[in-house]
Amino acid sequence: MAGIMVIFDFDKTIIDLDSDNWVVDELGFTELFDQLLPTMPWNSLMMMKVVHAQGKTIEDIKEVLRRVAIHPMMVPTIKKAHALGCDMRILSDANIFFIETILDHLGIKDCFSEINSNPSFVDEDGRLRISPYVDFLKFPHGCKLCPPNMCKGKIVERIQASFSPESKKKMIYLGDGAGDFCPSLRLKEGDYMMPRKNFPVWDLICENRSLLEADIHGWADGEELKQILLKLINKMSNLNTVQISSIDCKFETIHVNGNEPCPHHLEFISKSIL
Ligand SMILES: [Mg+2]
Ligand SMILES: [Zn+2]
Repeated sequence: MAGIMVIFDFDKTIIDLDSDNWVVDELGFTELFDQLLPTMPWNSLMMMKVVHAQGKTIEDIKEVLRRVAIHPMMVPTIKKAHALGCDMRILSDANIFFIETILDHLGIKDCFSEINSNPSFVDEDGRLRISPYVDFLKFPHGCKLCPPNMCKGKIVERIQASFSPESKKKMIYLGDGAGDFCPSLRLKEGDYMMPRKNFPVWDLICENRSLLEADIHGWADGEELKQILLKLINKMSNLNTVQISSIDCKFETIHVNGNEPCPHHLEFISKSIL
């Protein structure tokens, strides 16, 4: 549906693990990072410096990324939501390189119209360089709920501001982490928040339920995510149909003088979606 935007977090939402941890563990650096952790800030930039210093290449990283765990229902669900016409986005504190490598491998990169994540590039020495989404030293985002490099709530606000008022576009947001709480507060009435049950965002939402305007539908795994997401898309599509029918109906009355009286026609459609 053109009127529905679906925004996915990536780690532990689309894939079933944290991509940074996966790369470190699978390249055999778990112990090294455990030792380094107290001495350096844990971020992707530092992580890649260490990985390359240990002689690992971009191809080594790609090979590991292609083996990430993903629920078997996730790819078909994303393809289905895309086929239904939803505008699909990713909003993630991982990085563009990890996300694109995985989506490419899964054959679903083209399902997404926009990926918002920490930028990355491969430098002249073949090393992956990752930089923060927000240059927090020069332009801090000022949100106390979010890590300095990314406020997902501000990104959701920016996307909302791009909607034309007539479009009546609605959002479905899916996520698991504490960083997905801020954007859940920006969702409006008629939007849907889909937090992963018993993950940090779920706990935050349970503690602050009254702060959210969106309807909340928790999910535990890819199977439940599929059922809820497709049901919501279906429900929202039907609502849109009512709105379009209402416009058609007015048109009929004025110009065509159709046989079906408008109020009855609308009442019938309204009942069918309840
Ligand atoms: Mg996540
Ligand atoms: Zn924020």
